[in-house]
Amino acid sequence: MFELFKEIRKAGDATIGYPFQPLEMPAGFRGKPEHKERLCIACGACAIACPANAITMDLDDEQEYITWDISYGRCIFCGRCQEVCPLYAIVLTTEFELAVRDKADLRESCAYPVARCSCCGKPYAAAKEVDYARRVLESVGGPAAADADAVSLCLACRRRDDALAFQRQARVASEEGGAR
Ligand code: SF4
Ligand code: SF4
Repeated sequence: MFELFKEIRKAGDATIGYPFQPLEMPAGFRGKPEHKERLCIACGACAIACPANAITMDLDDEQEYITWDISYGRCIFCGRCQEVCPLYAIVLTTEFELAVRDKADLRESCAYPVARCSCCGKPYAAAKEVDYARRVLESVGGPAAADADAVSLCLACRRRDDALAFQRQARVASEEGGAR
């Protein structure tokens, strides 16, 4: 009998201590996505890329806030959100114990104020995203910096302005051509 105990001790533990001891997950393990509200600019890239529609973004009824929402109940831990996020604002962690008593606890959300078009006044993007675009353009400098003010326009007003500028240039070019 003692010989058998000795053999068992020599062989060591064949099982792991979890759940009585913490379980260390390997590098690259895809667990619960962690959203960093402060870093997020509400650009929507993660919501577009999420194949399970676990991340959704919506404009509220008063059109003042864009809500970013994740349902861990829908998440398939594919990591697409992490891949596409330009600001590392969503990262998959090694956390895997996601059981909850109330299904509502599987959701997390936050709200970002919207920016309104400086021309038509319609909401068109999250204010944080617009600020980010402006700062990037200004930091690039040169002709790009001149476009920084244009980020305060919605797509429709920007297109209209571009079309008018193009028409003006074409008219000046044709007048110059006729004068020669
Ligand atoms: S890990 Fe995949 S399924 Fe989960 S929120 Fe990110 S993109 Fe969606
Ligand atoms: S991709 Fe990143 S920055 Fe954009 S909404 Fe998702 S978490 Fe926020």
